[in-house]
Amino acid sequence: MSSNHYPVVILGAGVTGLTLAHYLNKNEIQFKVIEKNDRPGGVVHTQTEKGFVFESGPNSGIISHPEVVALFDDLGDTIKVEKGNDLVKIRYVLKNGQWHALPHSAKSAITTPLFTLKDKFRILGEPFRKKGENPDETLAELVKRRMGNSFLDYAIDPFILGIYAGDPAQLVTRYAMPKLYNLEQNYGSFIGGARKKAKEPKSELEKRTDRSVFSIEGGLSQLTTALLNSAGPGHFQFGANDVEVEATDKGYQVSYTIDGNKESITADKIVTTFGSVGLKETLPFIDKQQMLHLTNLKYARVAEVSLGFDKWQGRALDGFGGLIPHKEKRDLLGVLFMSSLFKGRAPEGGALLTIFMGGIRNEALCDLNDEDLMQVLKKEFIDLMEVPEFNPSMIKIKRYSHAIPQYGANTGERYSAIDHVQKQYPGLIIAGNLRDGIGMADRIKQATLIANELTK
Ligand SMILES: Cc1cc2nc3c(=O)[nH]c(=O)nc-3n(C[C@H](O)[C@H](O)[C@H](O)COP(=O)(O)OP(=O)(O)OC[C@H]3O[C@@H](n4cnc5c(N)ncnc54)[C@H](O)[C@@H]3O)c2cc1C
Repeated sequence: MSSNHYPVVILGAGVTGLTLAHYLNKNEIQFKVIEKNDRPGGVVHTQTEKGFVFESGPNSGIISHPEVVALFDDLGDTIKVEKGNDLVKIRYVLKNGQWHALPHSAKSAITTPLFTLKDKFRILGEPFRKKGENPDETLAELVKRRMGNSFLDYAIDPFILGIYAGDPAQLVTRYAMPKLYNLEQNYGSFIGGARKKAKEPKSELEKRTDRSVFSIEGGLSQLTTALLNSAGPGHFQFGANDVEVEATDKGYQVSYTIDGNKESITADKIVTTFGSVGLKETLPFIDKQQMLHLTNLKYARVAEVSLGFDKWQGRALDGFGGLIPHKEKRDLLGVLFMSSLFKGRAPEGGALLTIFMGGIRNEALCDLNDEDLMQVLKKEFIDLMEVPEFNPSMIKIKRYSHAIPQYGANTGERYSAIDHVQKQYPGLIIAGNLRDGIGMADRIKQATLIANELTK
């Protein structure tokens, strides 16, 4: 084998590429990772300034798949997984300008002002309602049908804003929330299904898959650094520009430039991990029509603002944070109380908050310059967070033009195109967040399953 040939080449060193690289290294499969950026992690990026430790991408993940538990076990002492404290259970939702905690007990579900009396009675009938028959039903349609409008507006809508920065009327349930879809399809009801599922026998890993909110001590970049180290930094090429793959009769050739110099390697198998953005330029040999299906995926634009306060004087930060339903017509999507959940994020007595703006229904906000964006934020923030004055000592703004993919009506076509292209070009694996879920846990699961396939 030539020194420029690899059984597997991974494109991208975000959570997906790093997890895959970790398992390939563990299973002694030769590979190379080509990464455009000059650092690992992709959108995961923890930074430190003025005593604040803040994230400019994801803020926390959920232990929602056994593959996450297995990966953390594998990484052992190289990371200190930090589960959010009890406050994560308290999530505020804004209604008529007031924050209300989302109910998490039968009693609070009866007394909450978030839902109408009619819908509270309606929910009692949820287990007896007929199963949906439209496999492409949107989340909004499904929730209205089973639970009522007020649950859609004040539970699901803010929840979807928090995860997708999206619109439940545009997301197809079976792709965007497959667990919810399967509860209805397999058990006939969300409530009854969740109860039955809880009683099913579970493996040890499944038992530890407790849906805890997690970060890593010191921030999420500790996870991506640990993955880089366990995968072996020598397997990585950072700062690769103009990455382009060519299908040859022997496999694939990957060419790229490093500091203006052209380099190329060959591979039996190629795994793309960067979703659909840039796929067309990277895989120019793919048929135009198929490429259109792979890339006509809408991503929500998001502006993420980290605010550090040396001395917090606002409302109690006694929860995970607050989400703001679209109906409330505000300019913020939500506020996360990061320093209340995880250790060492702000100096003693201070606070670190993360604010999200924009999203699928308010994207124009992302076009504002920093000054105008902060003016909009400040006005809302003073009111919502009850601060006497807006005096953060640290402000960091990060804009994402392609933050979160929206699994909408064209998802089925995209999945078919992925199957088609992968069959047409054996050894090509199209991965990343254009399929299989959008959260870090989904990325870890996808990469683990691909690694299992590649090590068979
Ligand atoms: C603002 C924001 C908030 C989020 N919040 C959460 C959250 O709270 N919880 C959660 O679980 N998830 C959250 N997510 C989602 C989560 O961060 C992602 O699912 C995950 O980090 C994506 O990892 P990835 O490796 O699939 O992709 P990426 O992180 O996008 O990595 C892809 C890598 O590929 C590289 N690349 C791109 N093109 C090429 C090319 N042609 N050749 C080589 N390399 C290339 C990129 O530079 C990048 O490093 C959030 C995402 C964003 C943007």
